[in-house]
Amino acid sequence: MQLTLDEIAELATRVFASNGCDEANTRALVRTIVAAERDKCLSHGLFRVPGYVASLRSGKVKGAADPTVGSKTPVMISVDGDDGFAPLALERSAPVLAQAAKTMGVAVAAVTRTHHFAALWPEVERLAGQGLIAMACTNYIPVVAPMGGLKPIFGTNPLAIAWPRPDRDPVVLDMATSAMARGEVQIAAREGHALPPGTGLDANGRPSTDPAEILKGVLLPFGGHKGSGLALMVELLSAAAIGERFSFESAEQDNKDGGPPRGGEFMLALSPELLAGPSWAGHAETFFACFDAIEGARLPGSRRMANRLDQGPRQVDDALVERVRGLCA
Ligand code: NDP
Repeated sequence: MQLTLDEIAELATRVFASNGCDEANTRALVRTIVAAERDKCLSHGLFRVPGYVASLRSGKVKGAADPTVGSKTPVMISVDGDDGFAPLALERSAPVLAQAAKTMGVAVAAVTRTHHFAALWPEVERLAGQGLIAMACTNYIPVVAPMGGLKPIFGTNPLAIAWPRPDRDPVVLDMATSAMARGEVQIAAREGHALPPGTGLDANGRPSTDPAEILKGVLLPFGGHKGSGLALMVELLSAAAIGERFSFESAEQDNKDGGPPRGGEFMLALSPELLAGPSWAGHAETFFACFDAIEGARLPGSRRMANRLDQGPRQVDDALVERVRGLCA
């Protein structure tokens, strides 16, 4: 069926508000869901709502969480998510992290005690909108086997990097370090599409292109040993570097309600103005002009930015909408 973005916002607001979220958390979650539907990132829009609600109902996640933002040093921001969903904690931390990076040149944020179930681009885009280079990464529960192994140890461990462009949309790379994000595999299973070879292994460790079999087995990292190495570094940055749980630790503590486990997010913001001087933006644009001249190439994030211009209704899965409507208590 088709729903306008306002209808999607209204539906999401009703669901969260009737499942124990206070106004601040509801608004932050709705902004995240609507932004994903607006940019046509289907695996992080309404599709995520049943998981969010499951965690509210099981009591794993606090719907009235009140995240707090402090700093350990002028460049080290600590964000305590108060066991809530990540969007409100991320929204509250952004101005503090941005101010620190603009003043000191570089700053990091350790976002802890949150439950992340969304794409990472909203948080890095927010910082890029303030003229900062931004990086974010998070872990999950073990669903990805390391290169050469059959047993999962990594989450799908996404990494996002945004490059600011004055008066233009930022360039945003936001990718799972697995061959495919798990939400995409779940959607393929729902729709019955085969997946490309190399996406994952079935429960017996055999390569498979069947999403349902891969969901019973393991995903593989993208790009062999390179993706596996990147997933490992994301795991370390999102856990040991900020004092939060590794994916395997999150899984041990999780109640398996289908929603996101508790975890952390590592964020970095960097001022190109202070690092390179005022010529940084023009210099980068020279590069982008050369890039754009290459036929067939496109900048990461440009698909979403183009989708964003479409203000019309969005195509949404009928069964999913019915399921979400049924979650309004
Ligand atoms: P994709 O593989 O679809 O895309 C990864 C990146 O590559 C995007 O920035 C995309 O830009 C860009 N890209 C895709 N195709 C091209 C192309 N032909 N030329 C240039 N750039 C291209 O994303 P994933 O499936 O890996 O991840 C999807 C989302 O899932 C991410 O937003 C991620 O944050 C999220 N995620 C969240 C997790 C969590 O635990 N919270 C776990 C894992 C993933 P564009 O968007 O413009 O296509």
